[in-house]
Amino acid sequence: MLLILLAVNAKNKLKTGMFSELLDFVYPQLCLLCETHLGFDKPLYFCRPCFRNLPWIGKRACLQCGRYLAASIHFQSQCKICQQTQHFFTGACSALQFDPTLKELLFKMKYSGEWGLAKPLSVLLLHPLRKALSNSKPDCITFVPLHPLRHKERGFNQSELMAKHLGKSLGIHVKSLISRNRWDAVQANISWGERAKNIYNSFEILKKEDEMPEHVLLVDDVMTSGSTLNECSKILRTAGCTRITLASLFSVAGN
Ligand SMILES: [Zn+2]
Ligand SMILES: [Zn+2]
Repeated sequence: MLLILLAVNAKNKLKTGMFSELLDFVYPQLCLLCETHLGFDKPLYFCRPCFRNLPWIGKRACLQCGRYLAASIHFQSQCKICQQTQHFFTGACSALQFDPTLKELLFKMKYSGEWGLAKPLSVLLLHPLRKALSNSKPDCITFVPLHPLRHKERGFNQSELMAKHLGKSLGIHVKSLISRNRWDAVQANISWGERAKNIYNSFEILKKEDEMPEHVLLVDDVMTSGSTLNECSKILRTAGCTRITLASLFSVAGN
């Protein structure tokens, strides 16, 4: 009876909490975009047409940072940001272009407390990530940290949750390697040009050099200018990691 009540209350919303796995079995799941009932597509969280029509980046990706290359840029090239920036990561995979529908899903997770969305969203990242890592499995997965006060305010770190789901699916340990020690202006509220300056020296390494893995997969939800991911990569490289592969669920297209 309790389960039925929970299932009814959770209808049309993604379930969160300790019953989420159990509820997957007892009531039909809806596509997160068009709300049609899912049958065999259940593990994907999206119906097949919606999944197929998502703005996948695919092969038209910047060779350095993985973001979608605008049609005006030569295929198999670098975006403008990468042409002008020193990078500390060594590879990258970004799943999808950041369009308004996906933005709504992400904001539901980040700002409306629907942290259960981390699982379906990590499924979207897993799709291209398996291909990108087919020749080289990272030693561990880590994630872009939130400042402790922001973490407390939100109650969770969406990148950490996604990293944990990815770790489970890929069979790779997840380790917290970086902390955020400075309270910065929110990157989304400042210009792209100012972001590298804003984020400079905001992070610290949590492990000793001899505990650092060689190849790290660094997970974040969205890559806009790439400054945050690059700054985290810099301190990982300084601490002894030799390979850093970025994994961003969404990225803003390069032009
Ligand atoms: Zn759908
Ligand atoms: Zn790039």
